[in-house]
Amino acid sequence: MAQKNNRVLVVLGTGGTIAGQASRQGDNVNYVAGQVTAQDLMAGVPALSGFPLEVEQIEQIDSKDMHWGVWKKLIARVAHHLARDEVGGVVITHGTDTLEETAFMLQRVLRPNKAVVLTCAMRPATALVPDGPQNLLDAVTVAGCKEVKGVVVVVAGQVHRSDHVTKVHSYRVDAFDSGDAGPVACVEEGVIRWYHSAMAVEDGTQDKGLLNKILAAGTLPRVEIVTSHADADGVLVRSLLIAGERDPRFMPRGLVVAATGNGTVHRALASALSDAQSLGVRVVRATRCARGVVIPGTASPFPDSGGLSPVKARLALALLLLAQDETAGAA
Ligand code: ASP
Repeated sequence: MAQKNNRVLVVLGTGGTIAGQASRQGDNVNYVAGQVTAQDLMAGVPALSGFPLEVEQIEQIDSKDMHWGVWKKLIARVAHHLARDEVGGVVITHGTDTLEETAFMLQRVLRPNKAVVLTCAMRPATALVPDGPQNLLDAVTVAGCKEVKGVVVVVAGQVHRSDHVTKVHSYRVDAFDSGDAGPVACVEEGVIRWYHSAMAVEDGTQDKGLLNKILAAGTLPRVEIVTSHADADGVLVRSLLIAGERDPRFMPRGLVVAATGNGTVHRALASALSDAQSLGVRVVRATRCARGVVIPGTASPFPDSGGLSPVKARLALALLLLAQDETAGAA
């Protein structure tokens, strides 16, 4: 049985479908995300009244439009609340589209030793059967659990690690999956049932120097994603290099190739990537397959992503470049 931490839980609202509204009740497709405040979402779930909650609205956006400015604000506020002794955990309401990116970013940057729980919904608040209220209740339940440390995603009754979770369905309410690893736990009627004896989390030590650098950075180092596919002739990569020569703001510092199968890359694209690499651009291979990781084998000039999906490999590389960057900001 999970132990409650009985400390304050801070709910941070960022928008998304969970806060979405349609002009016609029950329309699950034509709606505007990020309309209902986090405070009003909480008020709609009477079962939350027993929890010691604080609510703060960070932003009201459709997470498809997530950008560095919002991430920076969110990172700063989560770091602030986690540092408060009286706070036991943080819940973030978020859109589903880039939720896995925000979760991964927060884990990599903050390495929290308290719970940071992201939740969302696939149906707007005006749906006939919105999924947001139950997800919110489950997320608060998980955030209030002493055993949870690190960033997790709670949706459709399941708890996912930030490095494994991916949105895999465009419409279904249980749209998230943790691939081969599977979710770490489920939440049933306010009770967390662990699938493993303890939740394995990454080292919970925050790198204050990196955090300061991130909060000072005007933008993340440019890392773009290109896909290997039939007919991939590398023209996208070469166009980026030309654009970067004309205007340094467009020069990629890194490229992630969403490779076929076990990290294989079309030979024409590989040639363009090698040219980019010889100009100092870091190239990383991830697989475009929905399941599995790139298993090291035949020598490749491009290192693999260590099991990260293309979007997470992009963030990992950008953060690495930022960490190595002398000029990114004051430490
Ligand atoms: N476009 C929405 C968002 O990511 C989708 C959702 O939340 O389900 O904000």
